[in-house]
Amino acid sequence: MGAPVVDDRTGRITGVKAKLGEDKREVTFHAPLVVAADGNSTRLSLAMGLHRREDRPMGVAVRTYFTSPRHDDDYLESWLELWDRRGAQDRLLPGYGWIFGMGDGTSNVGLGVLNTSDSFKELDWREVLKAWCASMPEDWGYTPDNMTGPIRGAALPMAFNRQPHYTRGLLLVGDAGGLVNPFNGEGIAYAMESGQLAADVIVQAHARSTPAQREIALQRYPRVLKDTYGGYYTLGRAFVKLIGNPKVMQIAAQRGLTHPMLMKFTLKLLANLTDPTGGDAMDRIINGLSKVAPKA
Ligand SMILES: Cc1cc2nc3c(=O)[nH]c(=O)nc-3n(C[C@H](O)[C@H](O)[C@H](O)COP(=O)(O)OP(=O)(O)OC[C@H]3O[C@@H](n4cnc5c(N)ncnc54)[C@H](O)[C@@H]3O)c2cc1C
Repeated sequence: MGAPVVDDRTGRITGVKAKLGEDKREVTFHAPLVVAADGNSTRLSLAMGLHRREDRPMGVAVRTYFTSPRHDDDYLESWLELWDRRGAQDRLLPGYGWIFGMGDGTSNVGLGVLNTSDSFKELDWREVLKAWCASMPEDWGYTPDNMTGPIRGAALPMAFNRQPHYTRGLLLVGDAGGLVNPFNGEGIAYAMESGQLAADVIVQAHARSTPAQREIALQRYPRVLKDTYGGYYTLGRAFVKLIGNPKVMQIAAQRGLTHPMLMKFTLKLLANLTDPTGGDAMDRIINGLSKVAPKA
């Protein structure tokens, strides 16, 4: 998939041009609606003039694999202390590192960091990953010799950083629409759920009898996304601004993580694990805040 086919008269997307197979044969597909599911780089959205919003947070994640005795860990380990150790004073970075066993002789080791700290543009994240791994016990095996492939990374587009999510026949889902959760950098569930929400809206539009009615139905998609995630992402944007300050991050890590009740609240909030049907007092506080926060 590559360039959009656009109706010059209406500005609507009516298909895409693609190159297929090893011989890169040019093919044009026509469709009444197109869904951009092409990830963070989303060349399709860009070609339709949908650029990313600079006022939304971005993250970056890098990871690699090591042969390791920990390959069959049955849990995922998160480290909330990643350090920028270049200056006279170490700075705690707004992000976290992870380790999980692949069960095939290797572990996936990586880290994700937000762009809200001063360190963001200055650091080489591959080097930060290497330095973090070097600080671990040697018998875990996360050493350069045991690396089975290069360190790879990508941007994490967060909190609706590309909008509108529907315009002129094009719906954006997943990373193309900037749907990564700003609290934790996760985007897989949001990509799948937005795909489902887009499909529901498309089915409803398809059932309408006139083009004008179909268009009204499609215009609902951005609203459905905002109703689903908007308030929670607004809280997330405030959160990433706060933890971009190394002092706040340090206090949160030192005091918050040692307090079981606060830790439970933090886990529910960061992992978006509240019970939408009621739950306990913590669920109700987080759901209440998400409800009243602006859905932008
Ligand atoms: C290192 C790292 C670790 C991560 N870990 C997690 C995690 O643990 N949990 C989590 O929830 N999220 C995680 N994420 C984020 C998650 O990977 C993304 O949010 C998610 O994959 C987005 O899904 P998507 O389908 O929107 O986009 P993508 O997964 O990027 O899929 C887009 C697809 O479109 C294809 N494509 C793009 N352009 C074209 C084109 N022109 N023609 C044809 N095909 C095209 C791409 O090749 C790709 O296959 C991580 C990200 C990174 C970088």
